[in-house]
Amino acid sequence: MTELLVAGHCVQLERFVRRGGAWRSIEFPSLVALLDHPDGGVVLYDTGYAPRFHTATARWPYQLYARLLPVTCGPADSVLAQLAERDLAPGDVRLIVLSHLHGDHVAGLLDFTDARIVVGPGELPPDWRKRSAWRNAAHALVPDLLPADAEQRLLSLDELALRSTGLGGLLEVGHDLFGDDSALVVRLPGHTPGQLGLWLPAEGSDGLLLVGDAVWHRRAFTHGELPLRVLRADRERYEAIVAELARLHAEHPHLLIVPSHCTASIAEARGYVGG
Ligand SMILES: [Zn+2]
Repeated sequence: MTELLVAGHCVQLERFVRRGGAWRSIEFPSLVALLDHPDGGVVLYDTGYAPRFHTATARWPYQLYARLLPVTCGPADSVLAQLAERDLAPGDVRLIVLSHLHGDHVAGLLDFTDARIVVGPGELPPDWRKRSAWRNAAHALVPDLLPADAEQRLLSLDELALRSTGLGGLLEVGHDLFGDDSALVVRLPGHTPGQLGLWLPAEGSDGLLLVGDAVWHRRAFTHGELPLRVLRADRERYEAIVAELARLHAEHPHLLIVPSHCTASIAEARGYVGG
């Protein structure tokens, strides 16, 4: 069973998100996928915002991040509260796959102290505790949102069997989360070096591909409307992934590609999987 939850949102200028967008503020929801597998237990893809985001970004320079992208997330919006509504306790969450470590994807992480954590290669810099606050803030990494035992709880992608996704190109292989081909973790480097997506072939009409922040809006791969150049960190790899998503969209129009902050994509995907 898969459910798509939204844990808080921020606002951002639409024009920054996609060329062709208006100079107006739009809501940017934070997607969390809840997977309840008969053998593998409860797994989350990202943890969204949580109220602690406000305190973790209260001091300088992290405050800059919170000021640029004003966040709304009350206690009832957290993934923790939404799991409680489903009679799920924090200890039920066995594994958390993080698309990347930006604050809007990890703010709920500290609520799940028993879960193993999957992050992509190069995503957690070895010196993240020691490097300057400015450097962390420049990478949208907020140390107070990461667990003290982060490294001990990491589950390497190498421990998950490599399988063919059948998606072709850069997305041809994925790491099998449950050992039954029902959920494959795919690599989508660009927005960040270790960006991870999740391919759920049995969900939706032609499957569901959660792509984190590989793109922010579906018009990136349907109409080539990319974010401002300055917001495409590793431009070459970013654009290579967008080209792959555009190819997939053209070849499989019923495959639902879901960027974490695209309201229209989330609504459409929820129509298939519930939540
Ligand atoms: Zn994000």
